[in-house]
Formats: sequence, structure tokens, C-alpha cells
Amino acid sequence: MIALVIELQFLCMKGKNMSVFEEFLVGAKSVFNKAGKKAEKVIGFSKLKIGNAEVRKKISKLLEKLGKLTYESAKGKPYSDVEVKLLVKEVDKLKLEEEKLKKRISEIRNKIECLCCGYENESGSLFCAQCGKKLEKEKFNKDEKNESEVAGPIVENSET
Ligand SMILES: [Zn+2]
Repeated sequence: MIALVIELQFLCMKGKNMSVFEEFLVGAKSVFNKAGKKAEKVIGFSKLKIGNAEVRKKISKLLEKLGKLTYESAKGKPYSDVEVKLLVKEVDKLKLEEEKLKKRISEIRNKIECLCCGYENESGSLFCAQCGKKLEKEKFNKDEKNESEVAGPIVENSET
């Protein structure tokens, strides 16, 4: 009888400890998920910007080639119409791509990201439409602004 009571107490204690541990796990999990979501979003955004920088780099490379061809033809080298047309076509294609990327970037930039759940809220929102937390406007945008300021000159100078 006594042994049973002790065992019950033990189980009860164990159960209690377990639930605290489980609570901790659940808590840790939700924190992890939030962090994961946020990281995912930031990575997505960086990818877009890297993609945009790559496209710009390719465009300036092609323009450089076109300039070289023009220079060479001015110097008397035979002018390759086919090559020029191909390059122009390629530039146009890339410019279209650049426009798309720019549009998506500004779309994301205009949204207010919830620091709690990572949801992208419409600009002007005060509270998160998903979790209801108050939105802090400046953080996400500030980070991105600094990043693009750094990224700008690097792209400009990389093709010299
Ligand atoms: Zn939220």
C-alpha cells in the first residue's frame, strides 16, 4: 500500500516534471519556428537582391561588350550586326528580369514584417493580421536599406 502511494507520488511528480519539460519544448519549438520563419524570409529577400545584383552585373557586362564592338568598328574593324543584335536582345531580356525583381523587392519592402511571426502585413498596418502583435515599422526596412547602400557600390565597381 505504501509502496503504491509512493509509486503514485512518483508518477505524479514525473508527470508534473514531464509537463514542465513539455511546456519548455513547446515553447522552444514555437520560438524556433518563429526564428526559422523569419530567417527564411530574410534569406528570400537577400536572394532576390543577390539575383537583382547578378542581373545588373550581366547587363553591364553585355553593355560593355556592345561598347567594345562599337569602339572596334569605329576603329575600322568589321561590324558584326548579328552579334550586336544578339547582345541587344540579351540585354532586353535581362532588363525585363531586372524589372520583375525590382517590383518584387519593392513589394516586400513596402510590407511591414511582423517581428513576432514573420507575416508580411500591408503597409500602414498597426497590428499583425496574423498574430495580432503590434507592428514595429522601422526594423526590417532599416536593415534592408543599410544592406542595399552597401550592395550598390560593389556592383558598380565590380566590372572594371
Ligand atoms: Zn505576427
